[in-house]
Amino acid sequence: MQTSATRRVLVAKPRGYCAGVDRAVQAVERALEQYGAPIYVRKQIVHNTHVVKTLEERGAVFVEETEEVPEGAIVVFSAHGVAPAVHEEAASRRLRTIDATCPLVTKVHNEAKRFAAKDYDILLIGHEGHEEVEGTAGEAPEHVQLVDGLDGVEGVSVRDPERVVWLSQTTLSVDETTETVARLRTRFPNLIDPPSDDICYATSNRQTAVKQIAAESDLVIVVGSGNSSNSKRLVEVAKDYGAAASYLVDDASFVRDEWLEGVATVGLTSGASVPEELVRGVLAKLAEHGFTEVEEVESVQESMRFALPHELRKDLRAV
Ligand code: SF4
Repeated sequence: MQTSATRRVLVAKPRGYCAGVDRAVQAVERALEQYGAPIYVRKQIVHNTHVVKTLEERGAVFVEETEEVPEGAIVVFSAHGVAPAVHEEAASRRLRTIDATCPLVTKVHNEAKRFAAKDYDILLIGHEGHEEVEGTAGEAPEHVQLVDGLDGVEGVSVRDPERVVWLSQTTLSVDETTETVARLRTRFPNLIDPPSDDICYATSNRQTAVKQIAAESDLVIVVGSGNSSNSKRLVEVAKDYGAAASYLVDDASFVRDEWLEGVATVGLTSGASVPEELVRGVLAKLAEHGFTEVEEVESVQESMRFALPHELRKDLRAV
């Protein structure tokens, strides 16, 4: 362990905003500019309390269901995606919708539709109650069974073990999902894999990056909100890969002084829905405690970008 004179921070890269979050947040911002407030948003646009608060201050109104949106108003669907029933209900109430579902979530929806059309049983690995899982399962409720981690494997029953595919939520732990699939395969040896990885590039890259710094860190701080699946996974991965302790914090104000006692190296990262300014806030707080040596450890380069939702692009073009 280093002395307190050389306290340092290892900052994981990539961290923070992914392409899907960037697109969803921009969709609300551009809609506010284009159409004016209020712009309704079904559920949190992304799972981050600071992002939601900032957009609220600019005129976004967050609702749980489309029935809370006045007829004819504009509603944005969040990055996590929605079931077809939600689109139908919005159309029946003449809402103008902007669908900010991440294209990588839409990809999983399309896989569910395709396998359901071929009458496969679909084992969807994911967290019960998560919005993304509800949206994906809603594409083919007759064919989808949720498998909530290893514990969920024994309860699965299928009609024909030769016609079973697994799909997953995009923000799971890569390692844990590999284990769950292996366990499923012991029960269903001919289980089919998804055509391409469902865990998205951003989730998997952020986990790779935190693995790089975890073993060298006495403590890993993950900036992210408590309902952010990918952020919570980063805490677990950090501990699994050698960090003595790891905590999830919404912002610098949640970092407790006692966590830093006797610590020489802090690892720092952030979930895919976290603005970089919150990471800078934590760095500033750490600097006050003598953590002035800051090193960024890059494990993967990212360049993914997504175009804005087409409903919005059309109107922006017309200006
Ligand atoms: Fe899309 Fe992955 Fe970001 Fe979710 S975490 S919004 S699936 S890129």
